[in-house]
Amino acid sequence: PAGPRGPYRVVLLGASGVGKTAFASIFAGAADSMDSDDCELCVDEVCEKGIEVDGEPATLTLLDRWDAETDSEWAQENHMQTGDAYLLLYSITDRASFLRASELRITLRRFRPAQHTPIILVGNKCDLVRRREVSVSEGRACAAIFDCKFIETSAAMQHNVWEAFHGIVRQLRLRRESK
Ligand code: GDP
Repeated sequence: PAGPRGPYRVVLLGASGVGKTAFASIFAGAADSMDSDDCELCVDEVCEKGIEVDGEPATLTLLDRWDAETDSEWAQENHMQTGDAYLLLYSITDRASFLRASELRITLRRFRPAQHTPIILVGNKCDLVRRREVSVSEGRACAAIFDCKFIETSAAMQHNVWEAFHGIVRQLRLRRESK
């Protein structure tokens, strides 16, 4: 079990092509303005890194092993059970990926019945304004129904990506405090 500072296991979920790999490379890379170290431990699509959120350190282990196309159902379900928190990605340019995110949320609920598993619904590629297929209000409404937080990001512009990771840490801390 994770201590007060982690490591917290954060799982990236979402249809293929929504930007999971892009998220993972921002996390692993030197893009973090507060911590210019490269990923401390990166093996096999798992990356562990210390970051600072609201002046306090936290360690996140990011898992980007999800392969929606090729993994067996067993492997996918197994993967879904490994997280302390989840970033559920879709692309705002791809309505099918938005529907997929809803399905994944429902599946996740089977494995994570606890009310307070931190989940953030992430609408990625918000830089592609002219190709938008999912509106901000639809994303927000979906998150409200699924009782999770919502953020729009652009991995390409590195916009709000760290905000999403920080949001996860804040939720994990709140959950610990409420226990
Ligand atoms: P994955 O299959 O979920 O891991 O998706 P990838 O991270 O491989 O991204 C799929 C494609 O979308 C790649 O060509 C990325 O460069 C591109 N991409 C990812 N995030 C963004 C974004 O925020 N904006 C734009 N314009 N392209 C993105």
